[in-house]
Amino acid sequence: MAIKAEYIWIDGTEPTARLRSKTKILSDGKNLPIWGFDGSSTNQAPGAASDCVLKPVFSCPDPIRGGDNLLVMSEVLLTDLTPHPTNTRALLAPVAEKYASQESLFGIEQEYTFFKEGRPHGFPQQGFPAPQGFYYCGVGADEVFGRDVVEAHMDACLVAGIGLSGINAEVMPGQWEFQVGPLAPLDVSDQLWIARWLLYRIAEDFGIAATLDPKPVSGDWNGAGAHTNFSTKAMREGYDPIIAACEALGKNAAEHVASYGADIELRLTGSHETAPWNEFNYGVSDRGASVRIPWQVEVDQKGYIEDRRPNANMDPYVVTRLIVNTVCGALN
Ligand code: ADP
Ligand code: MN
Ligand code: MN
Ligand code: MN
Repeated sequence: MAIKAEYIWIDGTEPTARLRSKTKILSDGKNLPIWGFDGSSTNQAPGAASDCVLKPVFSCPDPIRGGDNLLVMSEVLLTDLTPHPTNTRALLAPVAEKYASQESLFGIEQEYTFFKEGRPHGFPQQGFPAPQGFYYCGVGADEVFGRDVVEAHMDACLVAGIGLSGINAEVMPGQWEFQVGPLAPLDVSDQLWIARWLLYRIAEDFGIAATLDPKPVSGDWNGAGAHTNFSTKAMREGYDPIIAACEALGKNAAEHVASYGADIELRLTGSHETAPWNEFNYGVSDRGASVRIPWQVEVDQKGYIEDRRPNANMDPYVVTRLIVNTVCGALN
């Protein structure tokens, strides 16, 4: 029987790219052909030479359509089959390959915010809800908004085979988090993009919009981040490489922060569990640090580190590339 393959790709919207998708009917789902789209409608090509190419890089069962239908994460190529300038995956692939022997693993905590009727889900029509304090990991209709969507999204990710490691309600009403990983750089990135697409798609059915805006409400409300947990084989086996990784990240701090998501300076203010965007520090258990060493890692003298700086709207192909380059380059 014919199947529906939903080809998903990253567009050229600036400063933060968006996801696009369209459906291809295939008589045989085993071979996923390259395909194309109108790049002049996605900020990826001029109208007079509008064709861009979609090349499948990762596919999984489609948990929404079910059956043998598929979700197909695709990278964007030019018509000569070289990477499109917006194709950040193509930049990650050789870096991941170069340092493959260090066996990098990433666990990414994707925070996001639900919006309904133009305001964060749970915010009253006028004014503001009660101040932050009880929403994080809360329970009850006065504290939790959108759990039905979150549960549906979690189930969908599991059916799709996404390497989800958990979910939780966040500090601001309507704000949530899911975690993907630990996985290798290309895998965590492909799967995070699919998980984001599923989030938007499922929330759509509930009449809710999910946003990765890093600071959806200004003032005394938490922003949304994408804490990036990272280890190499050496870090999973000893503490000296943990410290060396933190030091290496400190040396390249400005380059990293510049590519950790648009409007990062609005979120990394030094308040709301962040360090200022233009400073770098690391510490054990410190949620006000740029990079946190979890307490268990100090106890065990091995494990991983948490880069707390990436914004919710970051591109995981970019963030994992920078971290692998900086840390694996230094640990070499
Ligand atoms: P937090 O306490 O900061 O909220 P979470 O539990 O939300 O932490 O997320 C921690 C993430 O770190 C998870 O995605 C987990 O899979 C990941 N993780 C655990 N061990 C490692 C490791 N050795 N290397 C990389 N990531 C890891
Ligand atoms: Mn978390
Ligand atoms: Mn969080
Ligand atoms: Mn965290």
